[in-house]
Amino acid sequence: MMNLVMAQQHTVVIGAGPAGLTAAYELTRRDASVEVVESDDVVGGISRTVERDGWRFDIGGHRFFTKVPQVAALWHEILAAEDFLLRPRMSRIHYRGRLFDYPLKAGNALRNLGVVEATRCVGSYLWSRLRPPADQSHFEGWVSARFGARLYRMFFKTYTEKVWGIPATELQADWAAQRIKNLSLAGAVRNALLPSRDRTAITSLIEEFEYPKYGPGMMWERCAELVTRAGGRVTLNAPAQTVHRAGGRAVAVTVTDATGTRRIAADHVVSSMPISALVRAMDPPAPEPVRAAADALRYRDFLTVALVVPSTAGFPDNWIYVHTPGVRVGRIQNFGSWSPYLVRDGFTCLGLEYFVNVGDELWSADDDALVALGTAELARLGLVDPEAVSAGYVVRMPKAYPVYDEGYEQAVETIRRWLAEAVPNVYPVGRNGMHRYNNQDHSMLTAMLTVSNILDGTAHDVWTVNVEESYHEESGHEQTGAGQHGTGRAAPVLPHRAAA
Ligand SMILES: Cc1cc2nc3c(=O)[nH]c(=O)nc-3n(C[C@H](O)[C@H](O)[C@H](O)COP(=O)(O)OP(=O)(O)OC[C@H]3O[C@@H](n4cnc5c(N)ncnc54)[C@H](O)[C@@H]3O)c2cc1C
Repeated sequence: MMNLVMAQQHTVVIGAGPAGLTAAYELTRRDASVEVVESDDVVGGISRTVERDGWRFDIGGHRFFTKVPQVAALWHEILAAEDFLLRPRMSRIHYRGRLFDYPLKAGNALRNLGVVEATRCVGSYLWSRLRPPADQSHFEGWVSARFGARLYRMFFKTYTEKVWGIPATELQADWAAQRIKNLSLAGAVRNALLPSRDRTAITSLIEEFEYPKYGPGMMWERCAELVTRAGGRVTLNAPAQTVHRAGGRAVAVTVTDATGTRRIAADHVVSSMPISALVRAMDPPAPEPVRAAADALRYRDFLTVALVVPSTAGFPDNWIYVHTPGVRVGRIQNFGSWSPYLVRDGFTCLGLEYFVNVGDELWSADDDALVALGTAELARLGLVDPEAVSAGYVVRMPKAYPVYDEGYEQAVETIRRWLAEAVPNVYPVGRNGMHRYNNQDHSMLTAMLTVSNILDGTAHDVWTVNVEESYHEESGHEQTGAGQHGTGRAAPVLPHRAAA
């Protein structure tokens, strides 16, 4: 149990996303002293809800689903039952003007493909069994060998290439192996089109999920409020710039906020800022090999073009995957299907998701050009008439995805070891904080375990969270699955140059 000395110690939490705010909530719940410093002007991190002119949208779409009971309990402690909606899940795949049920269903797939195309797919599959591609070391070869080139081109190639920004021939096959082991699309395609002896067991998809009625940001805004009410401090527009170390520990964090530059003495530092930036913030600096490891870590960035349209122009799905070639958009959210509280009567807001790299042509395009692109692509897909679009907004989110490229695992390990030795009172938590494909629940769990380590002297290893377990949820490229040790949530290992 926490003693008086612990109670008097001060923890600085870097970042007011799910991990940072969970840490602060758990600390204040136990009367420990805490300040959260957040570089942005809103809380929630990637799980924020953006509001523009009264419209609300998510970065992606954030389903609240977890197999970790203490996380579910915390969500329900923070928000009252009436603030949660239980939403049905519906999503389809857009392919060349047709919408395929996802998971694929035999009747629907046959109707959409037509008997001729379906026969071709089965033929291409049989051909791949007879003459498998010689090179199966990459995603394309591996998937084509198992599903045939035709199904591969329809249901795997374009979307995967959009998400990761590199040709599927440069994605390693082991990701496909891992992903498809748990991925229902593969099983569903087989179930829909192939003879029953080829069927694999399909992992059940989550058909319903919880969602705060004003979006995920509502959870984190409320959490910040509760932290403040319990005596903690949450400071926005306050980027942590330096983590000072002395005597084998971190001793203070310097932030710049509205009051100027401030040095906050710290007994503990919980960090959800990107682990690469944490290393670069160290003073005195980390040794050269650790800085090199930090510099080697890469990210994939993300932007949403949100377009306001009459609700009749929308669709019932929560989101649609766009597998149709010739457009840049990867996925389209219908925020009105997530929650009627995000939109206004008679209208909905469609969130067109583009997977980008900071500084590339899409990231750098001005908002009007992006709104025009989104409007044109919706029309090209045959989904919405351009005349129906009454407003558009652009939301950019850097570092949405930690990239698993060659060598990333070694780089994270180098940093992890150095932090544990040189500054054992600095605790990396969360998603980018640990460079791991964590969803909210696992990000929160790392924070909860960390607080227990700080206050109770436990020795939970947060690096084992989201590693061994396999929880069969899938949400677009937020694929989950049985992670290999040290890898965490399933994501492809990319060639190093890809993310450069
Ligand atoms: C497209 C997409 C869809 C997703 N869908 C789901 C879903 O359906 N369900 C789900 O549970 N999860 C989902 N996630 C994952 C979820 O967004 C993350 O797991 C979660 O937000 C991670 O929380 P975090 O606190 O670790 O990090 P973040 O949310 O990244 O928060 C970190 C915070 O630290 C701040 N920060 C950074 N540097 C500094 C600094 N130097 N000083 C001060 N502050 C700093 C940032 O501004 C940010 O606010 C999705 C993610 C994406 C990209």
